[in-house]
Amino acid sequence: MARIAFIGVGNMGGPMAANLVKAQHQVRAFDLSAENLDRAEAAGAERAASLADAVRDVDAVVTMLPAGPEVRAVYLGEGGIVGLVAPGTLLIDASTIDVDAARAVAAGAAAAGFEMIDAPVSGGVGGASAGTLTFMVGGSEAAFARAEPILQHMGKTIVHTGASGAGQAAKICNNMILGISMIAVSEGFNLAEKLGLDPQKLFDVASRSSGQCWSMTTYCPVPGPVPASPANRDYQAGFTAAMMAKDMRLAQQAAQTSGAVTPLGAAAAQLYGLMNAVGRGGQDFSGIIRVLAGK
Ligand code: NAD
Repeated sequence: MARIAFIGVGNMGGPMAANLVKAQHQVRAFDLSAENLDRAEAAGAERAASLADAVRDVDAVVTMLPAGPEVRAVYLGEGGIVGLVAPGTLLIDASTIDVDAARAVAAGAAAAGFEMIDAPVSGGVGGASAGTLTFMVGGSEAAFARAEPILQHMGKTIVHTGASGAGQAAKICNNMILGISMIAVSEGFNLAEKLGLDPQKLFDVASRSSGQCWSMTTYCPVPGPVPASPANRDYQAGFTAAMMAKDMRLAQQAAQTSGAVTPLGAAAAQLYGLMNAVGRGGQDFSGIIRVLAGK
């Protein structure tokens, strides 16, 4: 049993912290939202009154925060984690943030003598609740070895992708592929509709031929062929278009700084940005099919 501080118990962090409690860890939770803290407490976590209270005398800290600025502030800002934790505390950031911020925060932690990994996840709220997340981990071999037994209680697949920042790099590359492939599948179904082709027939063909991909077979953007997909519940998220727009922006930032050529990623970032701008950011990202159809 380890003593773990969990900072950020929102949609993802809440169920992740609950799984650590179920695995008999002693979890102390902190969040700016009293409502989210109530839920964490109901799931068996100890309620911390402040960040300092949460991270005092723990073996590890896990953060699950919205984006890079929050992660930088919570670790390196005034009254931040790096100045509060006991020597030897392992630091794990599971948020999805930009590669540069992940490297900067890990470097700040290392300068203060702490091991830190970036460990973003894929699998969504469903995966967080079921404890089946995929973790993509950037950091040293030693830090990975220490973190793995903790991550195992929240995820099923844990891959050490390289040095600091490599977890975030894997995450944004994967999500750029996903964002683009969902648009490709949506365009296919929209064209089929114009051509008078039954969407189920397109699915029967494309799901078993070269158009096959996750966006087609697991998360199909038209209602019918895949009953569990958000299209069957009026595009209720799931994974929101706002979150997808954020990940696509991160991918574009990384492409610009690294010199990678990603024209489809750029177009996809614009399209999810548009979906957000027209007030549909709270819908599932697969609702992009309706934006493209002008519906
Ligand atoms: P969320 O908004 O539900 O949760 C974030 C929590 O952080 C909130 O409860 C908020 O109050 C808290 N918070 C913000 N600033 C804080 C601070 N300074 N101190 C303490 N708490 C603070 O978001 P989420 O959906 O749980 O996503 C969290 C991260 O996981 C994001 O980086 C997101 O990109 C990533 N992610 C989300 C999903 C998904 O499907 N929701 C999937 C994979 C990855």
